[in-house]
Amino acid sequence: MNRKSFLKAGLLLPFFNMNLKDFESEIIGDAQTTEIMPAMFVGHGNPMNAITENFYTKKWRSIGSNLPAPKAILCVSAHWQTRGTSVTYMEKPKTIHDFGGFPQELFDAQYPAPGSPIFAQKAIDALKAVHVTKDMEWGLDHGCWSVLKPMFPQANIPTFQLSLDYNLSPAQHFALASQLQSLRSKGVLIIGSGNIVHNLGRLNWGGKPFDWAIEFDQLSKKLMNDGNFKSLVDYPKLGQAALLSIPTNEHFLPLLYILALKQPNESLSFFNESIDLGSVSMTSVMLGKQ
Ligand code: ZN
Repeated sequence: MNRKSFLKAGLLLPFFNMNLKDFESEIIGDAQTTEIMPAMFVGHGNPMNAITENFYTKKWRSIGSNLPAPKAILCVSAHWQTRGTSVTYMEKPKTIHDFGGFPQELFDAQYPAPGSPIFAQKAIDALKAVHVTKDMEWGLDHGCWSVLKPMFPQANIPTFQLSLDYNLSPAQHFALASQLQSLRSKGVLIIGSGNIVHNLGRLNWGGKPFDWAIEFDQLSKKLMNDGNFKSLVDYPKLGQAALLSIPTNEHFLPLLYILALKQPNESLSFFNESIDLGSVSMTSVMLGKQ
């Protein structure tokens, strides 16, 4: 639609009883950008990162100020698992404090970003092969907002979440994720939030990383550099280090959502490459420019 016809359509709006703001959002939302948005997997680790200035959050802040401004953010968080696939569809998602044993300051923290039913609908439309439930109850869990608070501190970018379906295998998650590709050319920043190595039963407060954690973190990076995503999807076959690093897979699956989106000529790079608390890898992955 060119400028002239846009204005003409705008003049006609009152006759069709349409809200101009909704109309504009729809038009802008459908516009294809010349470049696809980067996508990233972020190792979120300790919830205190939401309100702490450290090595990791400094990098998140720098990424947020250097990325092209997203029209919306879609988070696939380790902390939202459901029966079937859901997408948050509310206008004002609440900040969910889904953790315990942390200082009051963290429970007081809010991330009041608006939701985006318009872009949530685009995600539903993109996921043709599955039924997606429009969720009005969830909000933004800490896998999402603890990263976005340092990364986009103004909390003014419409943000919505996609759940992880308990019933799907890693290969099925990978296939589902690949269907989200079209959102990237509509200006949506897709973020997978979890941890490649995540074994809370083996935390080593203040101690050095376990050998198996280092081994699997490095193996994962090698497989990603080699473009061997299939081996990561089949991670139980990668041996003891993989099984110790992924005792349950909810923190690993968001990585597969990002790898499934990699285009043939797109760069893949790492940031925040380190192991925190002995058994939590913060290694994060960027697709596209940084
Ligand atoms: Zn987590």
